[in-house]
Amino acid sequence: MSCFEVIDPVFGTYVLGNAPVKQIATGFDWVEGPVWFGDAGCLLFSDIPNNRILRWTPGAGISAFRQPSNYANGHTRDRQGRLVSCEHGTRRVTRTELDGAITVIADSYQGKPLNSPNDVVVTSDGAIWFSDPHYGIMTDYEGFRAAQELPCNVYRVDPSGRIAAVLTDFACPNGLAFSPDERRLYVADTGRMHSNDPQHIRAFDVGDGWRLSGGAVFHTIAPGCADGIRADTDGNLWSSAADGVHCLAPDGHLMGKVLVPETVSNLCFGGRAKHQLYITATTSVYAVTLNRNGAQRP
Ligand code: MG
Repeated sequence: MSCFEVIDPVFGTYVLGNAPVKQIATGFDWVEGPVWFGDAGCLLFSDIPNNRILRWTPGAGISAFRQPSNYANGHTRDRQGRLVSCEHGTRRVTRTELDGAITVIADSYQGKPLNSPNDVVVTSDGAIWFSDPHYGIMTDYEGFRAAQELPCNVYRVDPSGRIAAVLTDFACPNGLAFSPDERRLYVADTGRMHSNDPQHIRAFDVGDGWRLSGGAVFHTIAPGCADGIRADTDGNLWSSAADGVHCLAPDGHLMGKVLVPETVSNLCFGGRAKHQLYITATTSVYAVTLNRNGAQRP
């Protein structure tokens, strides 16, 4: 059986017919937040319900990176290569300094605790953008059940540390990704996970001073949800879905799928040329080599 579904013939040039979708690790409960460390030659990801961040190293397998992890979810690296993490348990976004110290980036807005930061991205100016849906405080499964005090917003923390709510009309904002030129911001809305609310990705134009406008629906994922999203260097957007990873062209049409046998939560590019796609999917992590390259730096 093919590992790929080609819908737009161009997608056929993005994948390699003899490159398998491989399960590289399994036995987890709900994995999320993959981030590639090219300098260390490893992938980090969260096993949220088991309160740990794990490390996968080619040839060496799985080891613990941080446990307990404060029920960490999404991760990225800033322009200095430091790990930036969303934590459900402590309802905050943190940066791990090069000496291992933890710096709190944000844990409140207008005097109220954040809900449960979910996913995060850093722009070229050093600002940290993150989504704050309420999944991590709804139950005791992925954090600690608690009262919600803030709407589910998207925030931007500028390099001076000032926090602003930049998107306030989402049901459950989740994955975020900028186009390679940072002129467009994609944000997934996974309201559908718990209600009849959206399961789509919206696209915003990024103006001077990082001002956002627009916000029309870019693509509605089916089956499943656009939880995690990442852009490649050509501006295509790769999104999680229930049946794998969907590749969306810059105009929003579905080009093709990487088929994965478990529901996908998130993905990142990694490997020597950022040509490998690492996929967190329910109880397992999968990897596939593509003929495309991820845009995210470093
Ligand atoms: Mg997420």
